[in-house]
Amino acid sequence: MFKLSKYAVVAILPTNAALSLCFSTKTGEMLLIPTKVFDFIKNKEWNNLKSNELLELVRTELLVCEDEDETNFVLQFDEMSQNNNILLSTIQPTANCQLDCHYCGQVHSNVIMSDEILQKMLGRIKNIILTNPNYKTVCITWYGGEPLMALDCICKFYEDMFKFCEENSINYISDIITNAMLLTLENFAILMKCKVMSIQITIDGTKETHDKRRITKDGKGSFDIIFNNLCKVIHSEIYSLYKPKIILRINIDSTNYQEVPILIDFLKKNNIFNKVNVFFAPIIEWGDNGADKVSLTTKEFAEKEIEWLILLYTNGQIHTELLPIRKSLNCMVNGQISEQGTHTQLVANKGEYFNLVKNQLELGN
Ligand code: SF4
Repeated sequence: MFKLSKYAVVAILPTNAALSLCFSTKTGEMLLIPTKVFDFIKNKEWNNLKSNELLELVRTELLVCEDEDETNFVLQFDEMSQNNNILLSTIQPTANCQLDCHYCGQVHSNVIMSDEILQKMLGRIKNIILTNPNYKTVCITWYGGEPLMALDCICKFYEDMFKFCEENSINYISDIITNAMLLTLENFAILMKCKVMSIQITIDGTKETHDKRRITKDGKGSFDIIFNNLCKVIHSEIYSLYKPKIILRINIDSTNYQEVPILIDFLKKNNIFNKVNVFFAPIIEWGDNGADKVSLTTKEFAEKEIEWLILLYTNGQIHTELLPIRKSLNCMVNGQISEQGTHTQLVANKGEYFNLVKNQLELGN
């Protein structure tokens, strides 16, 4: 018969014990069900479930076939889902950065990608696309060190790759993760020309706090430079013309979590808040660097994050990605781009199971 998926998370509503929220981490779907229905599931009283309830529970994979090896299914699904039509490529054009953030997991050096490496990388990406006709889009993420320290490299890459994409009917999209120290209006215009339409910048709190953690290599604060650049960019005509997505990341630990509402207020006063997407990230350890010594626990962070998301919501910023969607790839670097195969078969198997339950219910009716 059925069993409750081990990837289901169920919680009774704190405001109404008669209702329970069921979140299927396998499908990323949430159902609000009567708590008594959940009791039927726990007690395996399948006959007490109405047909439509049963179908919804199976469709969302909260209920699965009782002999299903779920872990194996998830692993197979992940493996076979990795080959889609987007080629994701993260490029570090430099190993250098002006800053010395205490939580940084990198060792910086004054090195910029050479033309020779750049050409090899272009050749490799083109070769992957030409030998995999499934690819319809190439998505380049510029990452560092600080990628804007190698802006020439970004431009050269774009000019060559965009021409190739046009000739081969491939979409080209791009984003950048930058500390914004060099995000002048001039450089912003270059990024827009290079179709870098999503820009992630980090600000870690008020000037006082930010400047204690995100210092330059010679020990100076970076808040004023970053924030002034951000203001100029967001209030510029170029921004109005291209409307890129600007993501503001706030790295949180126990030393700055109380500043979130103050920072949001500050962004609102500077007419920035409604033009950026704010998100919060816990500070974690990178490569044994001890960055997490004063981090919040996962539970503390999660509890605070709910408050911050409500704060964003009440100020008009709605996070539609609040519930995590099902991902077959935890991180793009885990993808095996040379691997062939699709997840069609597994999806078909799941679909068959759903149809089987549906048919049986219809027959029963
Ligand atoms: S800006 Fe990024 S790369 Fe540079 S030191 Fe800070 S965390 Fe490291």
